[in-house]
Amino acid sequence: MKPDLFEAPDYYNLDELLTEEHLLVRDAAREWVKRDVSPIIEEYAQRAEFPTQIVNGLANIGAFGPYIPEEYGGAGLDYISYGLIMQEIERGDSGVRSTASVQSSLVMFPIWKYGNEEQKMKYLPKLASGEWMGCFGLTEPDHGSNPSGMVTNFKDKGDYYLVNVAKMWISNSPIAQVAIVWAKNEEGRIHGLIVEKGMDGFSAPETHNKWSLRASSTGELIFDNVKVPKENILPNRSGLGAPLSCLDSARYGIAWGAIGAAMDCYDTALRYSKERIQFGKPIGGFQLQQKKLSEMITEITKAQLLAWRLGDLKNKGKATTAQISMAKRNNVEMAIKIAREARQILGGMGISGEYSIMRHMMNLESVITYEGTHDIHLLITGLDITGLNAFK
Ligand SMILES: Cc1cc2nc3c(=O)[nH]c(=O)nc-3n(C[C@H](O)[C@H](O)[C@H](O)COP(=O)(O)OP(=O)(O)OC[C@H]3O[C@@H](n4cnc5c(N)ncnc54)[C@H](O)[C@@H]3O)c2cc1C
Repeated sequence: MKPDLFEAPDYYNLDELLTEEHLLVRDAAREWVKRDVSPIIEEYAQRAEFPTQIVNGLANIGAFGPYIPEEYGGAGLDYISYGLIMQEIERGDSGVRSTASVQSSLVMFPIWKYGNEEQKMKYLPKLASGEWMGCFGLTEPDHGSNPSGMVTNFKDKGDYYLVNVAKMWISNSPIAQVAIVWAKNEEGRIHGLIVEKGMDGFSAPETHNKWSLRASSTGELIFDNVKVPKENILPNRSGLGAPLSCLDSARYGIAWGAIGAAMDCYDTALRYSKERIQFGKPIGGFQLQQKKLSEMITEITKAQLLAWRLGDLKNKGKATTAQISMAKRNNVEMAIKIAREARQILGGMGISGEYSIMRHMMNLESVITYEGTHDIHLLITGLDITGLNAFK
């Protein structure tokens, strides 16, 4: 892969809106990605393998639980810092960002929000340091966009809960020591259970043959009469709102992360357009290529403003589910379009692993689907503005 020459675009001087702490956190993550992710990521993506050696680095830059209080091992940062860390990691690779998002928003967040003090003290510091990895099991083979129909269930057996059935498409599951599993009790109410690797009847086989997020480990969660201790239930919230609130937090991170992938594609294409000579001049001098590049920087700038404002609202406790949903949908679609255009600017070289663009493009095909598909986010906005439910 080519050396990482990334220079971040900031067309509207948005750095002026960031605090000194934001800039420090962002720059540390940026440097780490250049040093520890860019040189190895293409090889791991080609091999379809998660680079486990970067887990410590992710913990060191605060990527695991950035907004979790320090007493639980988190970094105690605000939501803009969280967003900036996700942006920088996804600038390197969406699969690596997925690993961090799952750990922070889908595993640490529910334990922090809905767990009791013992659960927080037992799990959060280990997850923050990367000693343990976690995963989040909501999706099932027959229930993706409609998780309320889930069939994974648990029965109260007096001393323990007996968990059965399965989850699929679970990021980190093959490498995780702990899983937050959403399952229905005998009354059909959804609860979160903390399930640990090693419990009898619990397995997490890897999903192979992905063309996307190849450097992220994805798998199933299979429960065959797994006995889960009763103290492993998350006591402080039940119902579908509990997992959906975790998705809000993860989607927020994705809204920032997708900007990173887009920035990397734009920066690569801009540099290439000034160096690649055809018909006796740099291709960046042709109007058709300038149209692509001009539209890219415009869309990136709009997405940056959207993310910053959403972060500001989130810091004030005012960001709504529908606002987060809009930012996730807009920014991921923006990034995928930019990846496709940037790939064209590089011509044949655009499909080569010497550059990051094709990898970003393939990764974004998952990002536009997970954490609510593009269509589902349109329906969330539609419901919010009309008051009419078009889901069913
Ligand atoms: C790489 C990867 C990692 C993932 N990681 C996780 C994870 O860690 N944990 C987890 O729980 N899940 C995870 N997922 C699952 C992901 O969240 C689901 O794939 C996603 O929610 C969509 O569900 P589905 O694939 O079953 O598609 P479906 O729900 O079957 O949707 C198929 C199509 O129908 C459309 N559709 C569905 N309902 C409607 C409707 N009402 N109106 C209009 N159109 C509709 C959808 O938009 C989509 O285009 C991951 C997925 C991938 C690909």
